[in-house]
Amino acid sequence: MNETSHVETFSTRLAQLEDAILLACRQAGRKRESVRLMAVSKTHPARALAEAVAVGLTLFGENRVQEFEQKSEELKSLGVASAKVHLIGHLQSNKAARAAQLFDGIDSLDSLKLAERLDEAARRLQKQLPVLLEIKLSAESTKTGFLPQSAALDALLERLPDLKFLTLRGLMTIAPLTPDATRTRACFAELRRLRERLSREHPRLNFEELSMGMSGDFALAIEEGSTCIRVGSALFGRRPQPQLQS
Ligand SMILES: *Cc1c(COP(=O)(O)O)cnc(C)c1O
Repeated sequence: MNETSHVETFSTRLAQLEDAILLACRQAGRKRESVRLMAVSKTHPARALAEAVAVGLTLFGENRVQEFEQKSEELKSLGVASAKVHLIGHLQSNKAARAAQLFDGIDSLDSLKLAERLDEAARRLQKQLPVLLEIKLSAESTKTGFLPQSAALDALLERLPDLKFLTLRGLMTIAPLTPDATRTRACFAELRRLRERLSREHPRLNFEELSMGMSGDFALAIEEGSTCIRVGSALFGRRPQPQLQS
């Protein structure tokens, strides 16, 4: 972790990451194709994203509307058109319209109000917007997200079928920052069980995607059923400054 990162090229890191993903899949008896890799490019410049696209990555995660607004312009001028970019950070509802336009999916849907704003914006754009519900599973893990047993979550799920321009694809969570692998694993297992319960209770909604696992814990997440890992620093190197959700 403390080595200087300039000696490592992006493709070296990607190759190492791929090995680790394969190993985790094998240990879990899963196919490699059952886990998607999202490259979390927040804080890194557009050319880092372009480089990742050049070696075959197609799915990216960004956590701020304004930051990606700039980068998307730069990406256009770099001739990068094929990348799918999802928002993975908290979104204020006053930025919903801009986000609906900029992103290919919102993976951090955390309130009914936001869902309504996004649906309204997507309707204006005549664009079908894929979303994941962010679930808060431990007190310290995140500031935002639905609690698994909550009136807020129930109300959203009740309302979702009417929000015709949002397509629910599943659930997302951020595990607590802890060296205790048992707690991390328990958190991932809980999201998987929540998916099972919600699928039973809402058979017409789709909860297929389990977006869980980051650089430090993706192997555990894969073992617990993750279908999409969100990897930043293990691919792009350490971020310039600590990222807070905002
Ligand atoms: C930053 C971020 C990641 C990636 O974190 P790394 O530890 O750098 O892999 C994943 N998910 C979310 C929601 C993030 O904000």
